[in-house]
Amino acid sequence: MKRIIYLDYQASTPVAPEVLETLQESYRELYGNPSSLHGAGLEARAALERARRQIARYFDVSPRGVHFTSGATEANNLALQGIAAGRKSGHLVTVATEHASVLSPVARLVALGFEATVLPVDRNGAIDLRKLEDSLRPDTFLVSAMMVNNETGVLHPVEKIAEIARRRGVLFHCDATQGLPHRRVRPGVDGIDLMSVSGHKIYGPKGVGVLYVDPERVDRHPMGRLLYGGAQEQGLRAGTENVPAICGLAMAFRLLDASLERDAEEALEKRHAFFEGVRGLPFSATAGEAPGVPAILNGRFAGVLATSLMRDLDHLQFSSGSACSSSAPSHVLTAMGLTAEEVRRSFRIGFGRFASRDDVRGAAEDIAGYVKHVLE
Ligand code: PMP
Repeated sequence: MKRIIYLDYQASTPVAPEVLETLQESYRELYGNPSSLHGAGLEARAALERARRQIARYFDVSPRGVHFTSGATEANNLALQGIAAGRKSGHLVTVATEHASVLSPVARLVALGFEATVLPVDRNGAIDLRKLEDSLRPDTFLVSAMMVNNETGVLHPVEKIAEIARRRGVLFHCDATQGLPHRRVRPGVDGIDLMSVSGHKIYGPKGVGVLYVDPERVDRHPMGRLLYGGAQEQGLRAGTENVPAICGLAMAFRLLDASLERDAEEALEKRHAFFEGVRGLPFSATAGEAPGVPAILNGRFAGVLATSLMRDLDHLQFSSGSACSSSAPSHVLTAMGLTAEEVRRSFRIGFGRFASRDDVRGAAEDIAGYVKHVLE
């Protein structure tokens, strides 16, 4: 039996040991409802607000803008549907390679009578900023564009997108879920008005995330809610806060703060090790020269189906695309102009924190051996 090597960090990361400890301690100690007025409630409330302040500090924003959600899917839905619900009609802009949790709410809004422009991308997954500018109309109220693509690692020029939107008086929502593990995210510096992130991409718990809403730039009162009920999260998200998961999330941010640069440097070394291992084989990287994050590699071998590669090397855990849409051909790669056959050969490998350089070297060796065998 070959040792299992996990390389699917964009689908989900293992929980960091410190996060696990925080979760256990919080489940044990912080059982009160943070809205209760007795001691146990007050303790839970204090921990919740401490976590909020810590995450706000990481982003260099006001804690008032931090709203806890069940993850990035909910944060994206709340941003898009929430902002749209504050008006009766209008136009929004997004990009063809966004995550399903952005594209589906946009489709829902179109079904409700809103209009949307879905911008194309080029062969490298890049957005044409001129097309973005041209798509904006007097009734455009929101641009939603992700920071880093979850399938290809393509990094979008968020500051430039923000600058265009702001110049035209349009709010900018950014799904920063996959940018967060690889880049120091500062909504104030990037010009982001609303931002979604998720715990389980930064070695934190699943089922917890944040929607940041800039309290100075976005009027939250007319925003629609996804859930109606109590007044938690400043009225934006009803339901008892998941205090242990939120404390775990704050710990994940603390660890990220300490290891972001090291993670990025190591990811680059691991990426080089992978390329070294497959040298001489007919491998092409999907995003070509586009500016991307080194920790995410999407590519394909000539003559080898991704599903065969994954099935026959099942000790290597990587993927053929987004885990959230794993049964359908990738809409991201299709939008980049890959043929159906190229899409079927494409796979994604993530060089995350707990995969060592030797793990990556070993994985590349096994993949290279398999490819040589198939091509013989
Ligand atoms: N956006 C992006 C870019 C993602 O990669 C993911 C997770 N696959 C999500 C949103 C959804 O996040 P969650 O799993 O927290 O709902």
